[in-house]
Parts: sequence; C-alpha cells; structure tokens
Amino acid sequence: MQLQPPTAALDRGAARPISVAELFTIGIGPSSSHTVGPMRAAFDFAQRALAQDLPPVGITCDLYGSLALTGRGHATDTAVILGLAGWEPERLDPDAAPAILAGIRDMGRLVLAGARALPFSEAADVVFHPRDFLAEHPNGLTFTARLADGTGYAETYFSIGGGAILRKGAPLPSHNVAVRHPFSSSAELLARGDETGLSIADMVRANEEAWRSPEEADAFLDEVRAAMSACIDRGIAQEGELPGGLRVRRRARAIERALTGCVPGSNPAEVFEWVSLWALAVNEENAAGGRVVTAPTNGAAGVLPAVLRFYETLVEGASAEGARRFLYTAAAIGMLYKKRASISAAEMGCQGEVGVACSMAAGALAAVLGGSNRQVENAAEIGMEHNLGLTCDPIGGLVQIPCIERNTMGAVKAINAAYLALRGDGSHVVSLDAVIETMRQTGEDMRTKYKETSLGGLAVNVVEC
Ligand code: SF4
Repeated sequence: MQLQPPTAALDRGAARPISVAELFTIGIGPSSSHTVGPMRAAFDFAQRALAQDLPPVGITCDLYGSLALTGRGHATDTAVILGLAGWEPERLDPDAAPAILAGIRDMGRLVLAGARALPFSEAADVVFHPRDFLAEHPNGLTFTARLADGTGYAETYFSIGGGAILRKGAPLPSHNVAVRHPFSSSAELLARGDETGLSIADMVRANEEAWRSPEEADAFLDEVRAAMSACIDRGIAQEGELPGGLRVRRRARAIERALTGCVPGSNPAEVFEWVSLWALAVNEENAAGGRVVTAPTNGAAGVLPAVLRFYETLVEGASAEGARRFLYTAAAIGMLYKKRASISAAEMGCQGEVGVACSMAAGALAAVLGGSNRQVENAAEIGMEHNLGLTCDPIGGLVQIPCIERNTMGAVKAINAAYLALRGDGSHVVSLDAVIETMRQTGEDMRTKYKETSLGGLAVNVVEC
C-alpha cells in the first residue's frame, strides 16, 4: 500500500498559551487521538448540524489516514457514533456505552445530539478511507449532514493528539489569552524562573489565572489526581481478558496478589514492580475502554499516575500540595512538546506519547523531590532522550501490545531520570529544547508505517490469534 503522508502544515498556534486543562482531561479509553478527539469532533458537529436553517435528514462520517487504519481497534467508529448521539468523553459512563450503541444499531436510528432522530446505518454512514490521508494531518475526519432540501453541510476536523481537535478553518483556541509568565521554550521557562525566583509549578499555577482562579485550578488538579488514583485502584480490581480479540489477559491483579504481603517500599527489591503494577493497572483500564485521564494521551495514560503514586506512597513528606506541584510541573513540560512538536503518535510515533509522558513524569518527580528548575529541565530531557525513535506499532490496531507494558517502562525510566538529574547540579549538555527538536525531526523522518497505522513493526511480525 502506498501511503501519502500529510503535506500541508497545520497551524496549531505554537505561540498561544496552553492551559493545564488541555494536558489533562478525564475521558475514556482506549485512545485520546482516536477515541476522545473523534467523539469531541462528532459532538461539536452534531450541535452545528442542528443549528442549520434546514433540519438534517441523514449524517455521514468519513475517517481518513491513521483514523481509518487503526480506527476499528481504537474504537473510533463507536466514538463517532456516541459523539453524534450527544455524548462527550467526560460525561459518558463507559459501562453504559455498549447498551447505547446496541440501541442505535438495533433501531437503525441515531438521535442527533439527543434532539433529532435520523436513520443511521453504521456500515454505510461511517466510512473508512485507509489509503487516503488529508493534506493537513494524519488524523482527519469529515462529517456531512444531508439537509431537508437535498443540500449538504460538511465540516472537517483534525484530532491532533491528547484528545484535542481543530476544526478546519476555525480560529484557534486561547489565541487572545495573556498569561503572566509566557514561555514557548524551556530556555524561556528557565529564564522566567531566574527573573522571578519562582518554580516551574508556581509559574504555571500563576498562568492558569488567565482561565480560572487559583482555587479552581488547584481543585481541577485535585480532581485529576483523584481520577488517576481511582483508575489505578479499579484496574487492580479487575481480572479477565481485554476486549478486541487479541486474548490479552489483565495482569495487574495477579501481580498485586503476588506483592500483597508487602507494603510498597517494605522490600526495596520490589519498588519497580509496584510502579509497573500501577502503570499496568491504568493501561489495562484504558484498553478496556474505561475512565482514564489523558496524560498527555490515553495510550501513555499510565506513566504519570504510576510515578505520582510512587511519590505519594514512597517519598517521605509527600503531600496533596506536592501532588499538585507534580501535575503543574508535568503540565509545563507537556506544553513545551505541544508547542514545539506534537504529542500525536500519528505524527511522532510512540516517542510522542510514552516518550513525552516519561519526560513529563521525570521532570515532575524531580520537582517534588526538591529539584531546582534546571534539574527539572534536566530530568525531562533525560526522560525523552532515551525514548527517541520509539515507534508506534500496536498489534491489531489495539492499544494493548506494546502499549500496556510500554507504560511500565516509561514510568520506571522517568523515576531513574529524576534521580539521575538530582545527582547533578542542573548543568548538562543536551537541553530539553534540543531533545524536543530532535524528537520532532525524528518523527518527521519516521516512515508512516511506524506512526499509528499498524502497518509495520510488531503489528506485522506477530500473528494475531
Ligand atoms: S505504541 Fe505507543 S503511541 Fe502507539 S498506540 Fe501504543 S502507546 Fe500509543
């Protein structure tokens, strides 16, 4: 198959400020770019279609590029249907989704945004175009509403990573927002820290006031932390096979049982087994379509919760304020990747997902362990440096192999990166800006088959059962 990767630059507003709420969203699995983003796009389109002068009488969704190649395994088709029916990832109860979908399929009818019933055939109205990439981005989708007079109303969206979407031709969000400590590079972030004497977490917290009060910002991160923690606990409580046909069994519960006699930390030899268990638990929940926090994506959702749980469980003096500082710092690092490169695996491979999550978690842990801004930047740089070139090749298009285990590696590597950085004084040869640029160039040079298409790597070398 000849793949035509995108050729036109998509303006994502690199200079615009980014809120922590763009880095962390509470959604559903298994994919932020292929499930959460398309559901948001479908929800948005449904509202717009209903607002047309003439009522819609039918609706179609065309999926392009990576969304078409791995969309079935990533539940893009069902996400689009649920979004058109008026569901958003934040509000949808993952346990209720199968019954909602069964109702739409059985009736052959979809109630657009919960307001207008339309005939709907999944086979005819959700169309996969695996050979066609839209010019602007590998994750493109177009919705078309047929209106009562026979004309059509269409919109194209791009799912640009981490659940974020752009509507073609629409103004970018947050363009006119002014923040107190603007930064577009780690060099600027460090310089602002030097000028103000503030930590990275304090600067991001102050910047959040452009969108919400400090109390609201802290409360939001407390909610994120609680959702991450609940996801770990729910993942550990589940057993059985993950959906999708690969026959992958959940392992978190069995590992927890093997470790149960020990409180985390009582046996130093088991520390990384606990960290791996926490990451596994989250990503098994994600693979099952459960409630997860995109951090910064769903495929990489286990890294930050596992490292945060490591801090909360095993670091003396850990506190709720420390957990907030962890998340503010992680968000700052994630913002740099969003501004200077991408967190979409369809553009960067897995270095843009698990690699970025590892970098965020490394810097965040260094911060709450007492690191200076420069040690935080060093930790984040180490976290990415040893993920450069990581490809995305999920078997069967499912976010299971290598994704679930890969998060355990990302979490363990992040902890190692943080402690390595803390052993230095913050001075180092490769800057975070340099490693982000290297990731971007590596992602651009990576062949399309290694970027969330399931056409290369493990996806073609392992026979599915
Ligand atoms: S291989 Fe990495 S980037 Fe690709 S789906 Fe899995 S976790 Fe996401």
